[in-house]
Amino acid sequence: MRLADSHCHLIYKGLGEQQPEVLARAREAGVVAMLNISTRENEWDDVIAVAEREPDVWASVGIHPHEADQHPDIGTARLVERAQHPRVVGIGESGLDYYYDHSDRDRQRASFRAHLAASRETGLPIIVHTRDAEDDTAQILRDEMGRGAFPGVIHCFTASSAFADTALELGFYISISGIVTFKNARDLQETAARLPLDRLLIETDAPFLAPVPHRGRTGEPAFVADTCRFLAQLRGEDPEQLAEATRQNFHKLFAKTLA
Ligand SMILES: [Zn+2]
Ligand SMILES: [Zn+2]
Repeated sequence: MRLADSHCHLIYKGLGEQQPEVLARAREAGVVAMLNISTRENEWDDVIAVAEREPDVWASVGIHPHEADQHPDIGTARLVERAQHPRVVGIGESGLDYYYDHSDRDRQRASFRAHLAASRETGLPIIVHTRDAEDDTAQILRDEMGRGAFPGVIHCFTASSAFADTALELGFYISISGIVTFKNARDLQETAARLPLDRLLIETDAPFLAPVPHRGRTGEPAFVADTCRFLAQLRGEDPEQLAEATRQNFHKLFAKTLA
């Protein structure tokens, strides 16, 4: 199997301390591409440094919605400037999180729009985090799309089936995490089973959300193989083919990885 993990946090606690071993286990499991995601400005250098060091790791620059309050000055220009780095292939993660509400909602929305403008300006995909905020997410995506198109992905998809349709209609990809393997994820499993193969990505969001049979442990990119096998069974597909299709989708969406 040759797999892409479209969303992980390799410098986070649990992974950062044992990065060589984590990467070795990922490669052993067939992972050939990993996108190392940033969530705060003070992470950008470290997140990019991993991608400079490792040929199969790329980086994103962005501010997580949780962190919007702490970054009142991060605007489109700053994102665009750091996105010029050859190993930075995406903008995010950004979006709206009304479940935790760690940042003021107006700040979250303003930060999200700044990221979308950066995506439009650079042509790099926006990596969207959305939780309990699908109406506002859809409305902002549509509104910003009206000012000029940009590519993107809904990461760690857990939203409704209707929101999946909206995302697909806007040309977005949908990334499925280990949550799909959880017993109580019936609705997500139904949605994941019907998503078009050419818009599907798989991710770990490591160190979070380790899939069954690793649930409760520190997540790591190697586990994307388990999610792939589960998803293939759910969709009635061959795991090898699903791995290959999602790997190709990854490089199609994050086209700068091929540069
Ligand atoms: Zn997220
Ligand atoms: Zn994340």
